[in-house]
Amino acid sequence: MKTVKRIDPRRPFIIAASGLRRITLGDERVADGAAQTSHAALRSAHADAPKPRRAYEAGTRTLLVATHSDRGALDEHARQAVAAAAIVADAKTEVVLLVFGELTDDAAALGADKVVELPSLARPVFAPDQALAALRECVAAFSPAHVLLPDNATGDGDVGRRYAAQANASIATHVVEIDAAHVACYAGAGRSLASRAWPDVILLDPETVSSKLPFIGAGERIALPQTSQEAAASAAPARYRDGGTTQLDAAQVALEEADFIISAGNGVTDIAAFEALARVLGAAVGASRVAVDNGHFTRDKQVGATGKTVNASVYIAFGISGAVQHLQGIKDCRHVIAVNLDASAPIAKRANLTVIADAQPAMAALTSVVNEAKQAHHAPVAAATGANVREDVTA
Ligand SMILES: Cc1cc2nc3c(=O)[nH]c(=O)nc-3n(C[C@H](O)[C@H](O)[C@H](O)COP(=O)(O)OP(=O)(O)OC[C@H]3O[C@@H](n4cnc5c(N)ncnc54)[C@H](O)[C@@H]3O)c2cc1C
Repeated sequence: MKTVKRIDPRRPFIIAASGLRRITLGDERVADGAAQTSHAALRSAHADAPKPRRAYEAGTRTLLVATHSDRGALDEHARQAVAAAAIVADAKTEVVLLVFGELTDDAAALGADKVVELPSLARPVFAPDQALAALRECVAAFSPAHVLLPDNATGDGDVGRRYAAQANASIATHVVEIDAAHVACYAGAGRSLASRAWPDVILLDPETVSSKLPFIGAGERIALPQTSQEAAASAAPARYRDGGTTQLDAAQVALEEADFIISAGNGVTDIAAFEALARVLGAAVGASRVAVDNGHFTRDKQVGATGKTVNASVYIAFGISGAVQHLQGIKDCRHVIAVNLDASAPIAKRANLTVIADAQPAMAALTSVVNEAKQAHHAPVAAATGANVREDVTA
């Protein structure tokens, strides 16, 4: 009997700059009649050519997006929240981005017209009251029609919910479908979609919006009025205590959660040197399937389609060709560095930096350079930090 593939007819669409997009079996359609853009045109719009600036009349209507940054960058989920506002914004709407933390990303490319950075509220600091106060100050300053945040578990979802409760604002959480007219989220144990007009606060689930924009925003960096910043900073965090961050042995960190991974492939023959390098760098260990099949690493170290999907800030691939199944596992990594003898290996296309070298001497050289650097810095760093664990009460 022929098996018929079934798809959920109620599945939500993804909003992209070109309109609504549904993924159907073997075909990708643009559902917005006004924007029947062909795939080719869509791709060319996303190419590296300079993009036009989205024009808008300032001071008419504002959409505010608030999110934490991570060491100066927004993650993909946060980018999608900014893109949602930029796509939906009409010619009379400006998109203001409030960043808890620094932003070194190109704000215009994200689709933001104005950006407010609050470096003191960067992610490692647990300061929900200050973030909430800053959001309230920003709302008071810009009177946005709506506030959007990524619905994540790393601060933004929490701030959005707190804000809605405190401001008595209407809110939609875990939004999986959005356009200019409505938002929708799953209801009835995921069997149906509940939709409504835009509430005051919208918390977006990941992969609801395409972050690829064919235009840029104005990207103007502005500061909150000094008084507002002070008010935000002085919000008394009576009920919270920032326990600081704890350094863990990289070997104890699950590969999916590791921020720094070095991975070995078939081109790594000196496994002991590779493991020594991981220890010296404090990096978690990953491996290609071939390296696992060869018995050098346990199966839980395998990165890729049939292994772990990782999202490290830094992923160094030693002697890994970059087969499509491996690349699938590292698609969310921020900086990929490849060390490979073959400049034409597929990993070189994905990597931000490729070192054409033999993995063995490269690992040895890196180990000795890091050891030397550690020795040079060890004494002053130890004196400055005292211990690995910081315990301070934010007052
Ligand atoms: C259904 C399916 C699922 C799969 N799932 C996964 C998966 O989850 N993860 C995964 O990784 N693979 C997976 N694979 C396997 C995948 O297709 C590749 O075979 C595998 O990733 C190749 O591993 P590799 O790059 O380490 O080895 P190779 O393909 O042998 O490549 C070795 C690389 O090292 C370089 N090299 C050689 N010697 C040196 C040296 N001395 N110094 C520096 N570079 C050197 C070579 O130029 C080459 O680029 C899957 C395959 C299938 C069919």
